[in-house]
Amino acid sequence: MLSNNLEFKKLLLLHGKDRRKQSMETELENLPHSISHIESKIEVENATIASATQELRNLEIYIAPLEEQKCSGCNLRVSNDVVSSVLVEQKLTHCDQCGRIVYFER
Ligand SMILES: [Zn+2]
Repeated sequence: MLSNNLEFKKLLLLHGKDRRKQSMETELENLPHSISHIESKIEVENATIASATQELRNLEIYIAPLEEQKCSGCNLRVSNDVVSSVLVEQKLTHCDQCGRIVYFER
């Protein structure tokens, strides 16, 4: 009886090992698929980042921070009305020299 019980445990252990081995083999077989799935996701993310970066660059053509009383886009001094509009009234304001939207960096 004892030997039967031991044999049974041994079989269970072997069966368990086989199942673990099989599961690891399946995981290993699927690894290239998982890797290519992740790689394609990375490609999509990179494309999104590149597109957002380009949009940001395009936007930089149209907006510029004011540095003291100068538009950093055209490096020309803006009028007091522009500064007041941006600072005090906090309105969407264009540089009166080049037309870029100007803002103060905080
Ligand atoms: Zn300007």
